[in-house]
Amino acid sequence: REWCREIPKIELHAHLNGSIRDSTLLELARGLGENGIIVLEDVEPVILKSSRTLPECFELFDLYHIIATDHSTVTRITKEVVEDFASENVIYLELRTTPKHNEAKGMTKDSYMKAVMQGLNNVDEVEVVLNSTQTSSNEEPETVINSFGNEIKQTRKIHVRILLSIDRRQTTESAMETVDLALKLRDSGVVGIDLSGNPVVGQWSTFLPALKYAKEQGLSVTLHCGEVPNQEEIQAMLEFQPERVGHACCLDDSHWKLLKSSKIPVEICLTSNVRTECVSSLDDHHFADLYNEMHPMAICTDDCGLFSTSLSHEYYIAGTTFGLSRDELYDFAKNAVKLSFVEDKVKKELLKIFDSYKR
Ligand code: IMP
Repeated sequence: REWCREIPKIELHAHLNGSIRDSTLLELARGLGENGIIVLEDVEPVILKSSRTLPECFELFDLYHIIATDHSTVTRITKEVVEDFASENVIYLELRTTPKHNEAKGMTKDSYMKAVMQGLNNVDEVEVVLNSTQTSSNEEPETVINSFGNEIKQTRKIHVRILLSIDRRQTTESAMETVDLALKLRDSGVVGIDLSGNPVVGQWSTFLPALKYAKEQGLSVTLHCGEVPNQEEIQAMLEFQPERVGHACCLDDSHWKLLKSSKIPVEICLTSNVRTECVSSLDDHHFADLYNEMHPMAICTDDCGLFSTSLSHEYYIAGTTFGLSRDELYDFAKNAVKLSFVEDKVKKELLKIFDSYKR
């Protein structure tokens, strides 16, 4: 367990509001309860429940949306989430979030993203690097002894990039606005677009124009694919050839073959898939099949707050469930660098950190 925490790691599938610390979520919910905005007694059992089905998770997301409606809360959550990932040696974090519009709170998608950026700026436990031209502070790297018994240099630095999520409840117009916002924020660390939200809501044809536009403009695209067995949509998503897909749980045989032959990398979220009942158990997870075929994959958390997990824990359960050795887990973590949407210059820097860890 400790070793999984210590190795450098790459997180490619983390939803900002699903990664809120439990303690912060409770504190914010209590504050809203005291102000009569929510009835705490209704909400507390949902927050404290440890296993939830996919529909229950989406009920909880509605609560998250109430909680995260003011700018200062969004800023606080962002700061804490980045610090939490950095504290378990995540050296590159691709954080995704749905820009929110809330007239009553004076929140626009633009101002929501400003609050997120402020949160990144407020991180003080570690240096946040948002683009490859940003010069690093002169902070001296620390020398620590790793699990192989070697002295390694460790910098307190995390590279962060942002993906803007299109929520499946959105209209084509609203999805287009999100892509336009992503293009505007390219210099601030936004590198791509994600399609997420309740998988039983919305039609692929609604999002396609915005996703095509994102691709044409050179943004990277990842899609939540196959959380429910909607084979028509899965076919359309695979034909779209996104740069990555998340989950890929409910594919029939022909789509499974198509996924493998297309080599589209998969963001694997073990705990999330079991908790939301997208797969029946860890032992039955498609990880093993994809791993044996050397399909490109990354281990990710999805919503570490919602599922009470961490990236280190996901590596630990991948190792113990599928019998992976430390070397195999290390190689797996390192290979995730290639699947990130970051510039090549940063990829090289990240690979160097992996090499220096193993040396
Ligand atoms: P946010 O985009 O930062 O507000 O993060 C929470 C949102 O991410 C949720 O409201 C969902 O739209 C989306 N999300 C989180 N986990 C999942 C998942 O497992 N499937 C689909 N969408 C998800």
